[in-house]
Amino acid sequence: MTLLFAGCVLFLSLLLGSFVVQVGGVAVSAAQAQTAADAAALAAVAESTLYGAGAPLSVAAKMAELNGAELLECLCEVGGTAAQVEVSVEGVARTARAVFDPDAVSPIAAGATSGGLHPAMLAAVSRLIQASGGSVEIVSGYRSSAAQTRLWAEAVARYGDPEVADDWVARPGTSAHERGLAVDLGGDIELAVRLVERLDLPLSRPMAHEPWHFELSP
Ligand SMILES: [Zn+2]
Repeated sequence: MTLLFAGCVLFLSLLLGSFVVQVGGVAVSAAQAQTAADAAALAAVAESTLYGAGAPLSVAAKMAELNGAELLECLCEVGGTAAQVEVSVEGVARTARAVFDPDAVSPIAAGATSGGLHPAMLAAVSRLIQASGGSVEIVSGYRSSAAQTRLWAEAVARYGDPEVADDWVARPGTSAHERGLAVDLGGDIELAVRLVERLDLPLSRPMAHEPWHFELSP
């Protein structure tokens, strides 16, 4: 009788033991998945900006893999300011979202970029920024020819091909930024678009692949 009882206790504790081990495994996988998700989201959003090479999806997949996870989904768009990823480690899925703050990496403070803008451009953008209540900001406004030349050279070096660089940066002498007729906006771009319409501002977005680039309408 006592022996049987002892046997039962042993069996129970073994069951309990294996249960604890399993829970521990899930916890480890969850922590690893979260780390991988954080890393992949950060890498994806950094890659999607002007400072990356324009391949957020493959960078996110690579970063997940380096952290022992598999990338399930990446809501990451070239030119976007946020990336959301979902990764899995041994069946345990975790998500992470990273947001890119242009101010954090740009030496140009928002507000300091309005200098050099065409007066009509300055008036339109100022109304837009004010109406947004701080949700929209100027990331890049007027650029000197020297600044545009530097951006162009960086893009050629990054993409290794002037034709590809053309898709991202206008050649020196051809950018509306150099004439004070363009701004790159940050923050809530969708709100900016709605405000342009609502306030009937003379602003347009001529380049589909640069949704943040606004020019003074002719
Ligand atoms: Zn622009």
